Amino acid sequence: MRTATTPVLGAARLNIHEYQAKQILAKFGVPVPEGEVASTPDEARSIADRYGGPVVVKAQVLVGGRGKAGGVKLARDRQEAYDRATDILGMSIKGITVRKVLVARAVDIKRELYLGAILDRASKAITLMASAEGGVEIEEVARVAPEKILRVQANPFLGLADYQARELAFALGIERTRVRDFVGIAKALYAAMIASDGSLFEINPLAVLGDGSIVALDAKLVLDDSALYRHPELEALRDTAEEEPAEVAARAAGLSYVRLSGNIGCVVNGAGLAMATMDVVKLHGGDPANFLDIGGGARADRVSAALRILFGDPQVRVVLFNIFGGITRCDEVASGIVSALREAGDSVAGVPIVVRLVGTNEAEGRRILADAGLIAVSGMDEAASAAVAALTKSTRQPGGIVR
Ligand code: GDP
Ligand code: MN
Repeated sequence: MRTATTPVLGAARLNIHEYQAKQILAKFGVPVPEGEVASTPDEARSIADRYGGPVVVKAQVLVGGRGKAGGVKLARDRQEAYDRATDILGMSIKGITVRKVLVARAVDIKRELYLGAILDRASKAITLMASAEGGVEIEEVARVAPEKILRVQANPFLGLADYQARELAFALGIERTRVRDFVGIAKALYAAMIASDGSLFEINPLAVLGDGSIVALDAKLVLDDSALYRHPELEALRDTAEEEPAEVAARAAGLSYVRLSGNIGCVVNGAGLAMATMDVVKLHGGDPANFLDIGGGARADRVSAALRILFGDPQVRVVLFNIFGGITRCDEVASGIVSALREAGDSVAGVPIVVRLVGTNEAEGRRILADAGLIAVSGMDEAASAAVAALTKSTRQPGGIVR
């Protein structure tokens, strides 16, 4: 069943920078222009110096539309490379400060195409998408002219077949003598997608140059967090400077946490129960501030870490615990709540806490809470409606989203 809060699970993922995604593509045989990363204008100038010709200076931030925002600039020589890097470094694109630029050899573009591999859950296959309308955001093409996006589904056992890649090449109007190159690129993209357990691997634009050759000018790779344990080399590329600080802290504490826009902080054990909790909160007219799964068998320290993260969010005005003790012991959770509250002190004095606690060691858990002046309820509905009602009792001022 699709519910109001279902899409949040898709938020657990890792994005890496363009230059890193291009390195992966290059390893699989996709031609990319030579380039290096600089974090100062001086470095940018010396890279341009080495290349000796025109370069393109590109902001390395994990957002799309850098070109439109002024984050991609052509430089004819070393001095211009220095000047453009000066402009772009430190600039803010969609709220993110640019700290690094890619300085790459500039190329002479004849056509800009789109080529992407997505994990299509509906067809349970990796789908290659291509469009002759490259360079612009594909979501925009999908919206105004969906017929301009071509799709082929790779067989999960056989992979992407040559004939499928050729079909795309012909539909894109690739020159006869370059079809073989295009097929090589499409198959390499597919192989890179499989090897990295990507959920999206996109080349936009895939450029046809003046001499007819085909190169990847931009690349975006989104990795599924659930597969990251198989890829320590990719996890190492995570740029925590661009992630939500609370999400970084949550990951360090072993919690799965996704921040949302509401004001009722939820602490739940189990992903399914966490989703259900958010739905029940919505049903009662409330708005969850987050998805948070503290996991099975969570001990007191993990519960405290969870509370610290929620209290750190200025939007949170009420905290709702929904604990079903199986492997997780209710007394451990209760101790965690009590110690986190003690530690937080006055800063959370005005935040009502609602606890639903059932299962293993429930009586002991309730006793620990009662000693600290907290009362646990046993029904989920009851807990959710109590949390929504408690909003009027919260003396914490509502805060906006801070980044
Ligand atoms: P995005 O705006 O974040 O998607 O960044 P892109 O890397 O896709 O660059 C945006 C646009 O800049 C591309 O669509 C190209 O038109 C242009 N561009 C990027 N690299 C080069 C290059 O090497 N040479 C030239 N002439 N244009 C480039
Ligand atoms: Mn692009």
